[in-house]
Amino acid sequence: MSEPIFERFYDEYGPEKICYVHEPRVGMRGIAVIDNTAAGPAIGGIRMAPDVTTEEVFRLARAMTWKNALAGLPHGGGKSAIIANPKAPNKETLIRHFARSIEALRGYIPGPDMGTDETAMAWVRDEIGRSVGLSKVLGGIPLDQIGATGFGCAICAEVVQEFAEFDLKGARVSIQGFGNVGQHAARFLVERGAILVTATDLDGTVHDLDGIDVEELVKLKETSGRVTDYPRGKKLGRGDFIDLPCDIFVPAARPDVIDRTNALQLDCKAVVQGANIPITKEGERILHDRGIISVPDFVANAGGVICAAVEYQGGTQRRAFETIEEKIRENTTEVLTLARKYKQMPAEAALTLAKQRVAEAMNYRRT
Ligand code: NAD
Repeated sequence: MSEPIFERFYDEYGPEKICYVHEPRVGMRGIAVIDNTAAGPAIGGIRMAPDVTTEEVFRLARAMTWKNALAGLPHGGGKSAIIANPKAPNKETLIRHFARSIEALRGYIPGPDMGTDETAMAWVRDEIGRSVGLSKVLGGIPLDQIGATGFGCAICAEVVQEFAEFDLKGARVSIQGFGNVGQHAARFLVERGAILVTATDLDGTVHDLDGIDVEELVKLKETSGRVTDYPRGKKLGRGDFIDLPCDIFVPAARPDVIDRTNALQLDCKAVVQGANIPITKEGERILHDRGIISVPDFVANAGGVICAAVEYQGGTQRRAFETIEEKIRENTTEVLTLARKYKQMPAEAALTLAKQRVAEAMNYRRT
């Protein structure tokens, strides 16, 4: 009889392996899911969280299958998790043990995710000889430092302007979540002539129609940690960004920020999804019916994983930027063209395209 857990998740794409690991001597418990490796070894992060579940890891692994396929990378999708607090005093021991216990899963290349970083990836590589998201000294490309994901979001917006009615030069940008992705997206968008008018973080919202100075706001985040300490503009609550007019809205914080209750209020022409699953399915439908172009996460925020794939192939930082630009430009154009042609939501068109690519790659496999 099949394991009930497998019954719950499997379909025609995967998962290929669900693996539970345990080292009682140090209290390490973990889960690894290799969803699909038809296009190549799976790339996906190691999440470290005390409440992570098999279902969550599977959903994240599947999301990586679509993201990597859509980005045209020679990689499949996978994800793993260590069930522990990322602030645990024995973090290094837990990560090293976890790495050793997944060593035999050759079809999986671990990267950083919530609760793990480049130091954790260095421990993993030290143990098993493979990981991505490494520091420069180990031949890595520091994807957070260079803003790989935010850069990809800006390229995505460049394409979107051709499908929505706005010009990136002078376009008003609203960013929800002024962290790594949000700050770099703002930077690269402003470099292209856009104006940052709204920025939101956990403590509130700053809104200035004259334009917010991105570098000044980034510095403030480093010192006080709050966008609301910005000396100019209006200060509002955390949720008040929703009906402030803008041309491009970039959600770059948590999942499910836009849902059926607030999608009608969002006052923008296009959404570039920097965060993972920032919009619910119902929210996405409402935006589509209102004529707002919403580029799904696995198209718009693929800059990070594209950078990781370039690193894995031994490429340089320059090559990473070129590859992100080329792939995100091409994929956003293809997805938005298909969506327009078939009158679909971009999320539907993107999923159809990703499924076609995975199915095609699977046809080359031995049966
Ligand atoms: P981060 O922790 O650097 O930044 C998150 C920001 O969101 C912080 O400024 C925080 O104050 C703010 N925030 C949190 N909750 C909020 C709320 N309820 N309202 C408003 N602001 C809130 O994280 P990050 O690396 O920028 O990642 C952001 C999102 O993008 C996540 O969903 C992540 O999974 C996704 N993502 C990140 C990358 C990457 O390369 N870092 C790649 C792909 C996807």
